Amino acid sequence: MIELAQPTQSLLGIQLTNPQLSALQQYEHELLEWNSLYNLTAISDPDKVRIKHFLDSLSCLLVMRETTFKRVIDVGTGAGFPGLPLKIVCPTMQITLVDSVGKKVDFCNHIVKTLGLEGVEVIQERAENIGKKSEYREQYDWAIARAVATMSVLAEFLLPLVRVGGSMLAMKGESAPAETQAAEHALRVLGGHLNRLVPVVLPGVVDERYLVVVDKLAASPQKYPRRAGVPVKKPLKHQQQPNPPQIN
Ligand code: SAM
Repeated sequence: MIELAQPTQSLLGIQLTNPQLSALQQYEHELLEWNSLYNLTAISDPDKVRIKHFLDSLSCLLVMRETTFKRVIDVGTGAGFPGLPLKIVCPTMQITLVDSVGKKVDFCNHIVKTLGLEGVEVIQERAENIGKKSEYREQYDWAIARAVATMSVLAEFLLPLVRVGGSMLAMKGESAPAETQAAEHALRVLGGHLNRLVPVVLPGVVDERYLVVVDKLAASPQKYPRRAGVPVKKPLKHQQQPNPPQIN
């Protein structure tokens, strides 16, 4: 059985405490139990849960610890990734977890209650709607997401939630460099500026992983996010100018 303490120390330089390790153990137990009933995640092997869910979630701290992160929002959190492992390891973090699917929100609420976590808000809502509400819009130091949408779509989900001076973090696979390049227009329109792409190597995992950090330099225009479904259907991209009429 893979231990989480050692890889967390080598990847992040963080020494997990015994209460944190036992909270993660209980989370894993509940995840596997619920998964057999509700199919919350495709990963159901305990070793893979530790590396591909817990350690991967905690890898956000490679970039997030360099700044303060009082308020964080995790959009499309599913069974709580990356938000809940981050909260367990960083107890002062105030975190909002958002997902549109009821059973995932129920599971996150169950973990919050079971582990007695404070400073966690779990909301069943679409990202497009939450970004319109004044109590969430431009309120967060970090808006983060893993495996939710392509970079252009994610920019429209996340950047409106970030305060000017904060950042968004997209956890991405091998397509990160190409997706980030394709999202250049979307980032600019929404007030974002690419800070960096950080490769992450997880023990025993061959897939490429990246943390894409985008800083928010200017307020996002009020018309974004567009209504539910539109960002995915029509991702923001540079409009091709029509060819000028030929003059003979
Ligand atoms: N972030 C989790 C992880 O990495 O394990 C879950 C990833 S899962 C592939 C994508 C999640 O995003 C789903 O739980 C889905 O319900 C949620 N989602 C997709 N589009 C969304 C939207 N527009 N608003 C809120 N949640 C959304």
